[in-house]
Amino acid sequence: MYLWPKDTSFRRLELITEHRDCPTCGRFMHICDHRHHPIHTLEGPVEIVSKLVHCPDSACKGHSTTVSPEAELQVALPYLAVGWDVFAWIGQRRFGRHWSIPEICRELQERYQIHLSADAIEEYVVRYEVMLAARQQDPERMAQEYRDVESLILSIDGLQPEKGHETLYVVRELSLKRVWFAQSLISSATEELRLLVIQAREWAKRLEKPVVGWISDKQEAFVKTIAEEFPGIPHAYCKNHFLRDAAKPMLEETAASSKADVAAAPDSAGEVVLDYCTAVRGILNSDQGGYLSPPGLRMAEALGEVRASLQRNLEMEKGGLRTRNSTGLPGASTKGLPRSPRAKRRFACRSRTSAPSRPRSTQKTAPQKDAGRGSRS
Ligand SMILES: [Zn+2]
Repeated sequence: MYLWPKDTSFRRLELITEHRDCPTCGRFMHICDHRHHPIHTLEGPVEIVSKLVHCPDSACKGHSTTVSPEAELQVALPYLAVGWDVFAWIGQRRFGRHWSIPEICRELQERYQIHLSADAIEEYVVRYEVMLAARQQDPERMAQEYRDVESLILSIDGLQPEKGHETLYVVRELSLKRVWFAQSLISSATEELRLLVIQAREWAKRLEKPVVGWISDKQEAFVKTIAEEFPGIPHAYCKNHFLRDAAKPMLEETAASSKADVAAAPDSAGEVVLDYCTAVRGILNSDQGGYLSPPGLRMAEALGEVRASLQRNLEMEKGGLRTRNSTGLPGASTKGLPRSPRAKRRFACRSRTSAPSRPRSTQKTAPQKDAGRGSRS
């Protein structure tokens, strides 16, 4: 539970479902409760006030269950003290730029006046990683959870905290308020987004439940691909594009600096080396772990994997097979890295020039120095 200072001033964001008819009997549903959820956003503290509605007929099945606003999940994950924008920002700093947890912690405080403990940030990082890896999506467990659900409502959202960088696309299912999966993409090309829509369709098929609606901000690519992959299914526009608006000032601020990256792309020979450097850098900067999984051990394991991967590449080279074995990079530490070589190149460059507001000395570039960091605790 996050403790807010008493004098925190929140911007109030009231939300209510856009579908007021009782799903069982069709009566107009009444407001029966409010749920308050204070969060940090990059734009300052916000209090989400969700109006919950239910069917007024006490004999109806819809009386004992409340309906939450669809937009609630578009602003923040339940029980987190941060909105999606901060969540995506943290994930991007950790996995795209390989900042350490203390660096993220400091930057959030200095630049956004967001005070989060290292533990909290670590928890978000783990959630972000899990979301991208879709590790919690065990089909049997999902089938169990969805056993009593009659139909599915899906939503897709793209959140880009900074222009020119990857966008976190999140596919959610609204009747159980569950994040199905997320993907970090540098491109917003229709065909790449279509894959997410197709994946959602596969999941619905596996659950053997009908999809009765889609909700998105109606970006052209979503309109097109959802119409094609889900013919005849209603696609609603979500008015609450709160986060996109919240992220605007930040977009403008960083637009100029990201332009500089494009020119600095290294040649293809350097790419492989940079991929490895990026991975190693990520490993050295990792502050994750605890008593049961000390960072030093994790680091040793991950570095071992890098060595094995390099060895595999060398052997392939000897055998005349020129292969860029990027899949051989250590799994635990490279999850969430952008997939395309272009994206990797960009992030590799970016990590050297990032964070103009931070002093150079906080960047971890010397492996010898960092080796000591990992073995502490
Ligand atoms: Zn009813």
